[in-house]
Amino acid sequence: MKRIGLLGGMSWESTALYYRLLNEGVAQRLGGLHSADCVLMSIDFAPMARLQAESRWDEAAADLAGKARELEGAGAELLVLCTNTMHKVAPQIQAAVDIPLLHIADVTADAARRAGTRRLGLLATAFTMEQPFYRERLESHGLEVLVPDPDDRALVHRIIYDELCRGVVSATSRDRVREVIGDVVGRGADGIVLGCTEIELLIAASDSPVPVLPTTALHVEAAIDAALA
Ligand code: GLU
Repeated sequence: MKRIGLLGGMSWESTALYYRLLNEGVAQRLGGLHSADCVLMSIDFAPMARLQAESRWDEAAADLAGKARELEGAGAELLVLCTNTMHKVAPQIQAAVDIPLLHIADVTADAARRAGTRRLGLLATAFTMEQPFYRERLESHGLEVLVPDPDDRALVHRIIYDELCRGVVSATSRDRVREVIGDVVGRGADGIVLGCTEIELLIAASDSPVPVLPTTALHVEAAIDAALA
């Protein structure tokens, strides 16, 4: 089993889910008392969220690249960046290390193809929904991407930062996000990317009339595949 390096804390609420799913997945595949061989670097999210909000992406990239090098130094053989948004700086992180970074959008695109979906509704932070880095990566796999309208994007962004990243899971917000999903499906989406690693703490398959692609769970499965290959 290869050692997996988790670069997390963005936020820790979803990193905790990564850690649990990773260990459960390895136990399921190998049985007995098996668990994941991993090293976790969990950062303080507040300064990173500030760099995001102030569009200081170069500083964010340099910071995360340094953390990735530390994970490599701790023996990680494979890098898992536990956030969709920070894949904006995935190229700089990958360039800083010799181990492969498992890109969350590639993993999601593979799952979309397996699920037979082609027009994906993307629910994520405003950065991920509005900037090209994530959409274009999905499109490079032959997929089409639809985003919610501006008010709904602001709503989803707010729910992520003000609630889910702080451990608040609210039935009212779930209902609102279900409406957002309904709207995007009404515009032709045949799959919904839960494109923020916290959204699957709020939204399940049963909240959507079309298949959902939960990026945290998919990222973990792909990491286990790579670690056990
Ligand atoms: N975890 C979230 C994501 O997957 C949002 C937090 C962040 O900006 O890193 O995009």
